[in-house]
Amino acid sequence: MTSIMHRHLRQTPVTAVGASGLSITDSAGRRYLDASGGAAVSSLGHGHPEVLAAVHAQLDKVAYAHTAFFTTEVAEELAMRLAFNAPGGESEVYLCSGGSEAMETALKLARQYFVETGQPQRGRFIARRQSYHGNTLGALAVGGNELRRKAFAPLLMDVVRVAECYEYRNRPETQTRDQYTTVLLDELEQAIVRAGPETLIGFVAEPVVGATLGAVPPTPGYFRGVRALCDKYGILFIADEVMCGMGRCGTLYAIEQDGVVPDIVTVAKGLGAGYQPIGAVLARKYIAQAIRAGSGIFQHGHTYIGHPCAAAAALAVQKIIERDKLLDVVKARGATLRALLREAFGSHPHVGDIRGRGLFLGLELVEDRISRRPFPAACKLHAAVKVAAFERGLIVYPMGGTIDGERGDHVLLAPPFIVSDGELGDIVTRLADALRAALAQVR
Ligand code: PLP
Repeated sequence: MTSIMHRHLRQTPVTAVGASGLSITDSAGRRYLDASGGAAVSSLGHGHPEVLAAVHAQLDKVAYAHTAFFTTEVAEELAMRLAFNAPGGESEVYLCSGGSEAMETALKLARQYFVETGQPQRGRFIARRQSYHGNTLGALAVGGNELRRKAFAPLLMDVVRVAECYEYRNRPETQTRDQYTTVLLDELEQAIVRAGPETLIGFVAEPVVGATLGAVPPTPGYFRGVRALCDKYGILFIADEVMCGMGRCGTLYAIEQDGVVPDIVTVAKGLGAGYQPIGAVLARKYIAQAIRAGSGIFQHGHTYIGHPCAAAAALAVQKIIERDKLLDVVKARGATLRALLREAFGSHPHVGDIRGRGLFLGLELVEDRISRRPFPAACKLHAAVKVAAFERGLIVYPMGGTIDGERGDHVLLAPPFIVSDGELGDIVTRLADALRAALAQVR
């Protein structure tokens, strides 16, 4: 038994005792190949000596200094680097401890921006149905994951909800891609107008949907349309890159590939690659400047913001990504993984879609490939795949099983950027075997 309140209170997870590269070892000596980088976190694999050395050196120098009194060289250097490389440049950076905190910060920053600029009537966000933005109350409220929201509904702020951009499941055959995109943008505009544009703070979206649907990219032009609508109605565009950002999709930020500059971007997971808990909010300069020129104080903050050891880990990770040209590696290995997945599952009767960007790829599992009908939610196929994969020494990130089953079953693959071609082959072979076993169980 355990005294830790794990998420699944009736189960105790396996104890990890060692980790190196793509591999994690448990207390019984079993090794697991980490094909999802945990939850798209571990971009450099485990035990990278340079990151470990950077954290150790920072521990020796200044392990912690409260930001009410001090900044640190390492946090400043990290922020400079993030600001310089931010979409559109010209950003200021808020350092926090994870993805939910980053989202919470972004929501409050956006709200305070309007308070400081004389538009205090702006008090609501607009966000998408199939989305996940974190588990704290603000982040949970903007997210559309009904299963996670249900118990807390009375505590969540009211959010205007529109459809996600999910071509595989939602585009009717009678529509072209462009028509589907136009329909989504029309729906968004109508929702903005109905809510009253002057009451809205921001539109929140993941550029590539991660934790609710495995790696769903937008249609071409979707985010350009979103940006235009946000500009038209004076609404901020907040891009949640907690999962899809920091190189995971083959560019430092996923949204770069859509040719759009958000007002606020959040990052976490891959920022510190799991070596330390860290997240960041990149806000365009005019946002911070408005607060600086107004009250001068962002009414927010946590004890561990700008933590020097977390900053040291993230700085080392980001320097390695640049020095070793890992964005190119992500593109190349991503193409290899996609080709291997197509080879293994391209005509599989229960794999409806293979999609994603870079090393952020998802499979959608369906009962019927032609009609795209998902398996009944009660089958819990995604959970069976997770267990079968784990039994075969493979870690994948499955998702699915909303209360009404509308989400279907998905498997997300997000291996570390240092994955070898041999390991990619191994991942696909084990996954095919796991899927076979899981399907045998649920049918
Ligand atoms: N936003 C997105 C898109 C995520 O995928 C997640 C976590 O999965 C979060 C926010 C929340 O991040 P964290 O779990 O670090 O709080």
